[in-house]
Amino acid sequence: MKVRAFTALAVTTISLAIATGVPAYAASAGSAPTTAPAASAPAAPASAPDTARGQAADELDTVYEVVKTAKGYAITVFDPAAGVSNAQLRSELAKAGHKVLAKGTNPGDAIAAASGSTSVTATAAAVSTSCQAYGTAREWCGHRWAANGFEDPAVYMLDHTSSAWPVSAATNTWYQAQGIDAYYRWYTNGCPGGGRHCVHVYNAYYGATGWAGLTTWGTDSTGDYDNTTNVTVKLNDTYGGTAANHRNVACHELGHALGLNHNTSTGSCLYYMQGTTLYPNSDDFNILPRMYGY
Ligand SMILES: [Zn+2]
Repeated sequence: MKVRAFTALAVTTISLAIATGVPAYAASAGSAPTTAPAASAPAAPASAPDTARGQAADELDTVYEVVKTAKGYAITVFDPAAGVSNAQLRSELAKAGHKVLAKGTNPGDAIAAASGSTSVTATAAAVSTSCQAYGTAREWCGHRWAANGFEDPAVYMLDHTSSAWPVSAATNTWYQAQGIDAYYRWYTNGCPGGGRHCVHVYNAYYGATGWAGLTTWGTDSTGDYDNTTNVTVKLNDTYGGTAANHRNVACHELGHALGLNHNTSTGSCLYYMQGTTLYPNSDDFNILPRMYGY
């Protein structure tokens, strides 16, 4: 069941947005979706789940970078622009000085290897075995938001982007998912706190980096997801493309921010490469309540 506890807050935000003259699209903060929830009682998955690690196929590959931070580690997933293979993306990132993981390496295992800690190794093993797949959808292993006393985790997408990026529309699509509540919020309104999570969404001409979008989250020293640190999403204007391409990448990165990994179907916006698919597929909607215990 969706939590409506933020109705009063959302109304306040809308009033504030109008009064302060922020862009019109900020006024949709916290608004209810205009279509019926897509996640109904699940039927059989669209195809058999793939839970193998180190997959050979490009669409089952994810390009990660793991960087040590003061608190733990920052894990970034880089998403290739249209026409860029994962191998080409790894090559471009390495040339630019990124510490990109070899194909098939799971970030938890990389952190365990880097730290040499047995506790981290245990955590990585636990993450490896608890990762969920449902049909063509997969979980971004080890990245689950805490509910912090709410029925479902509350995740605010703080929009720093230009009007070229449909962050509001993409958020409202994800809001339809059961098990987690994704809210839109213009960035000047700030992160609401009180156990609610925030994702900062930026855009810029980041250059011909090979990636159309990226999502970064932080871990604590054991490699576990740090629920006190915000997630960052970057949308690359250099590969912006058409309106459909923008929507595709926004949908994709916000899906990562909610804890999803790549979907093996081109019918999902979480397919690994930039395209024109605007929405998640039914498997994406069905895996979220399983991850978040709905
Ligand atoms: Zn991705």
